[in-house]
Amino acid sequence: MMSENINIEELFGRNVFTLAKMKQRLTRAVYKEVVRVMEEGGELSRESADIVAKAMKDWAVEFGATHYTHWFQPLTGITAEKHDAFITHPDEEGRMLIEFSGKELIKGEPDASSFPSGGLRATFEARGYTAWDITSPAFIKEDATGKILCIPTAFCSYTGEALDKKTPLLRSEEAVSQQALRIVRLFGNTGAKRVTPSVGLEQEYFLIDREKYLKREDLIFAGRTLFGAPAPKGQELEDHYFGAIRERVGAYMKDLNLELWKLGVTAKTQHNEVAPAQHELAPIYESGNVAVDHNQLVMETMKKVAGRHGLTCLLHEKPFAGVNGSGKHDNWSLITDNGVNLLDPGQTPNDNMQFLLVLACMIKAVDEHADLLRQSASDVGNDHRLGANEAPPAIISVFLGDQLQDVVEQLVSTGMAKESRAGGKLRTGVSTLPDLEKDATDRNRTSPFAFTGNKFEFRMVGSSDSVAGANTVLNAIAAEAFCEAADRLEGAEDFEKELHDVIKEYLADHQRIIFNGDGYSDAWVKEAERRGLPNIRSTVEAVDALLTPQSVKMFEKFKIFTKAELASRAEITYETYSKCINIEALTMIDMTKKQIMPAVLKYSGLLARSLQDMKNAGGNTEVHSAVLDEVTTQLGLLKGALDLLAKDIAEAGAISGAREQAFFYKDRIVEDMKALRSPADKLEMLTDKELWPFPTYGDMLFEV
Ligand code: ADP
Ligand code: MG
Repeated sequence: MMSENINIEELFGRNVFTLAKMKQRLTRAVYKEVVRVMEEGGELSRESADIVAKAMKDWAVEFGATHYTHWFQPLTGITAEKHDAFITHPDEEGRMLIEFSGKELIKGEPDASSFPSGGLRATFEARGYTAWDITSPAFIKEDATGKILCIPTAFCSYTGEALDKKTPLLRSEEAVSQQALRIVRLFGNTGAKRVTPSVGLEQEYFLIDREKYLKREDLIFAGRTLFGAPAPKGQELEDHYFGAIRERVGAYMKDLNLELWKLGVTAKTQHNEVAPAQHELAPIYESGNVAVDHNQLVMETMKKVAGRHGLTCLLHEKPFAGVNGSGKHDNWSLITDNGVNLLDPGQTPNDNMQFLLVLACMIKAVDEHADLLRQSASDVGNDHRLGANEAPPAIISVFLGDQLQDVVEQLVSTGMAKESRAGGKLRTGVSTLPDLEKDATDRNRTSPFAFTGNKFEFRMVGSSDSVAGANTVLNAIAAEAFCEAADRLEGAEDFEKELHDVIKEYLADHQRIIFNGDGYSDAWVKEAERRGLPNIRSTVEAVDALLTPQSVKMFEKFKIFTKAELASRAEITYETYSKCINIEALTMIDMTKKQIMPAVLKYSGLLARSLQDMKNAGGNTEVHSAVLDEVTTQLGLLKGALDLLAKDIAEAGAISGAREQAFFYKDRIVEDMKALRSPADKLEMLTDKELWPFPTYGDMLFEV
């Protein structure tokens, strides 16, 4: 088949109401107002909003859109949309005049009562409202539903509490911008008006054949396999990572890229990942809020496009036991609107000092809020990865690499404060930093939080999770550390001395968080414990971090979350956890009763008859008996485990209190599920493949 030529330049952003399109369609004054609000915050005037709405509507209708929607991110972690057609009441002669007002563009009032609110919104006050996030461009989604104009929005309760993930993220970006500006001003950058987080998200995923997917209830209901013996081959030959991409997968990737480019997503890198049937896509980094929105589009598009190719895309963190799970590396840096990356070690001593201060602040921030960062990367699926010797450990530490580590050690050990001034010139102990290597050789894949040249790479986030939470925390802890440093430095009598003191103090006090070794080793777990670093093993244990006095103080100080909003998130996390495990448990019960047991009973019947036949024929029945014995033994264990799980599920349902219930699910139900899986997987290895009721790991992972 000849492939058609693709013109990326023409295709890119085709479905997006970009600034360029606004410039074409708006008057100069209104366009300028839009740009100002985007850059500086605030609101559009009512008149301008009407003009923008009309221009957006005209563009969308010319494009063929029939509906619009406020596209938002409730606390489910995915996106929500309610479509409204662009139709209005026809006039007396039956004509339709399409209208779309500024009011409709800027504000919506969906019924909020069916979204999780964690107690924030009493059901009698069910109204919520959505408000246009002007910093994230509107776009047109094209699929079987037709063409839908999607307007990225924040979602709040009527009293202003955030019911979504975008609102706190925007608040955190505001906070970090304000505080980071104070830092760059100290170093003479008076031109910068804004500092924006830059975020690049590497998304891992699995692709399997859709026919096979549809034969597995566990994949359908839970997104991961709840049963399955390992295939004879796993990932041990390391032949999949960066391997040649199969035709079918390649066709999928091509289609996926096209769809993403149209939506203005800068899909850039694609490759096979470590596990069989696992792949990765990374777009080029962009402004944090937009990157988070785009990641939602990436996940949604990955699933949608898979269907067209007879495939299913699994975004779960651990779809298959025994091979690597999937994560989402969150590459994060801070860049001023006049082009300075705060995490880029510069060439001059002055740039270096700013970089060192920012680095010291980040090290302090990560150490002081390790529990929050860990929490931000936790979800039900990620419990199977973090700390399970393949993904980053559950312990937060910072990797700096040898060069930077050396610099930090010198700064801490040289008693810089007293030698800090020589001939009126600044001495850092190291006059300039060497140009830090930005290549991959010095990379430590086992670190959860690694400095990689000009950015930090937070590697803990789960593949299916929204990255809004992780970025909200990153921005918040950075804002707090910058604020404290700026408070001291702005008031300092001797700026240079104080600067040295701050850097040295932060580095010395928080050195324990720096770790350059193997994060997967048991030795690190012990060492981390000795250092007093938290090792939070599960999602439900991580929740406490949200409501510690220091978390509440920070989030309230920078107006990112109120205490009530934090409490609501804790509540929702517990509830979601319990619900997800409950679904998994019920699915296991269903599959065991209706598929596994009938298959094994049938097989043991065949064995029994064959044994009888052999006996009648006077042959040796030793092997027959042995196999039958093994099967019935495992079947007995299976039945016992099944009954226990069913009993405990009933008990779990009766527990009141979201926290208690979630802990019961983690401590009892999850263990019961493991006990049920074990004999089932053994039975899979004993039973005639013809009789096994669903596709095996070998079928799914190697025959895509
Ligand atoms: P890897 O080898 O881990 O894939 P890359 O250098 O390809 O690393 O970068 C991974 C991601 O980091 C990409 O999305 C890239 O655009 C993003 N990235 C690069 N520089 C920055 C930065 N300064 N801030 C945020 N993200 C960045
Ligand atoms: Mg990377």
